Amino acid sequence: MELTPIELERYSRQMQLPGFGEKGQKQLKASTALVTGVGGLGGTVALYLAVAGIGKLILVRGGELRRDDLNRQILMTDDWVGKPRVFKAKETLSKINPDVEIEAVYDYVTPENVDELVQQADIALDCAFDFAERDLLNAACVRWGRPMVEAAMSGMDAYLTTIIPGETPCLSCIFPEKPDWDRWGFGVLGAVSGTLACLSALEAIKVLTGLGQPLTGELLTMELNSATFAKRRPYHDPNCPVCGHFHQQNLTATITRNQVAKTVYV
Ligand SMILES: [Zn+2]
Repeated sequence: MELTPIELERYSRQMQLPGFGEKGQKQLKASTALVTGVGGLGGTVALYLAVAGIGKLILVRGGELRRDDLNRQILMTDDWVGKPRVFKAKETLSKINPDVEIEAVYDYVTPENVDELVQQADIALDCAFDFAERDLLNAACVRWGRPMVEAAMSGMDAYLTTIIPGETPCLSCIFPEKPDWDRWGFGVLGAVSGTLACLSALEAIKVLTGLGQPLTGELLTMELNSATFAKRRPYHDPNCPVCGHFHQQNLTATITRNQVAKTVYV
């Protein structure tokens, strides 16, 4: 996929990055990212993927903008209160970077639409409000073998990991029991959701282009009250109801390999 003269100019600074270059830019242009949510997290993720030159964004979010969203939802404007967020997100992003194709889906992630959405994407970014949508997206990404950047926050705490189905723990391995914070809503600062969003967009860029080392199999926890960052290795559950079948397949492959080895060498 070739870059136009405008694209070469627009992205010239990031193409100077070692490990990214024109090759990374072309890989990004050839990629589609699915972002669930266009709020403080998803909207900011979409913004940074758009300015970086992702080829296509699929934005999925039902619901209308409320005035109390405006402290963090940077794609929105005050005159849009009461109207569907996802269409404003598309409008703002198109003005910022008209070279990015944007599909706005005015809906939530549901059992009916999740497979079709995931199949169209090279990567998914989980920025949904609640765990019901997060679980649906995780299961579909495992089903279709798509990487998923998992980003979530509660108050001043945030966590981030990159899931590669079959290689890393999935969301269900990491959180077999769901915390109940998502039911109640919580206080949130735009700078907190924005911090997590920037790191999430960076994870997607890394996975899509091979730049740097993504957080695969690692959970980054951020306590932003004290600016404390830590990395943990989450448990990869061999009996996970969502991704455990990969473990069984690997076990069978290992047994088969061992049998072949015995046949050859014994
Ligand atoms: Zn799992």
